[in-house]
Amino acid sequence: MRILVISDIHANLTALETVLDHAVEFDAVWCLGDLVGYGPDPNECIQKVQELPGLLCVMGNHDAAAIGQIDTMTFNPEARTALEWTQNTLVEESISFLKKLPETIENNSVLITHGSPRKPVWEYLMDVQTATVNFAHFSTPFCFVGHTHLPVTFTLKSGNSSSRLKVPVPNTRIDLTPRMIINPGSVGQPRDNDPRAAYAIYYPAQGIWDYRRIEYDIPSVQARMAKENLPARHILRLESGW
Ligand code: ZN
Repeated sequence: MRILVISDIHANLTALETVLDHAVEFDAVWCLGDLVGYGPDPNECIQKVQELPGLLCVMGNHDAAAIGQIDTMTFNPEARTALEWTQNTLVEESISFLKKLPETIENNSVLITHGSPRKPVWEYLMDVQTATVNFAHFSTPFCFVGHTHLPVTFTLKSGNSSSRLKVPVPNTRIDLTPRMIINPGSVGQPRDNDPRAAYAIYYPAQGIWDYRRIEYDIPSVQARMAKENLPARHILRLESGW
């Protein structure tokens, strides 16, 4: 069993298609939210994700805002501009797909969610203190999250009073040991100064996390964003990954 784990696609169809091609073989897909927001291809990305085999998908904060479940005033002005464009661009089928997304899904030994087990749509897991507290909010051996756009693993230390943060090396395999919170990074808007699309293949039987990065055609995405008058800062950040 090979599970493709993707997160924070952010309406970047070119990055998504490149990841799907590069992943080659997978039996199921787990998507950790934020299909839309920032990028120029929200309907196309939702369509593509819907067609993927064995799909489990949770709701991100941008998905919730795009369908009016979160006030766009809670976002910074540029993210709000992109979200308002997204709201005006989404077709009915896309809206109904987003509306059905749950905040968390528990499947065998893994809880999947966008932000954190404690606050699924909103909380950012950036540091060991916040991660450690969150281990008390799920009971499975592993939890996969997105939201920060930063590939990272948090491993709970014995005694449960602290956890260890590690930034994985691109294109290497990690042996998973209970309990861990793992972020695969972002497909469509990486923020770790590496502009390549990020994703992982999870092998549940072997307990292996295969963390990958792949280059994609960034200028073509930037051109579509410029055509739609999306914020210049969002266009620029794709090429260096911040
Ligand atoms: Zn995001």
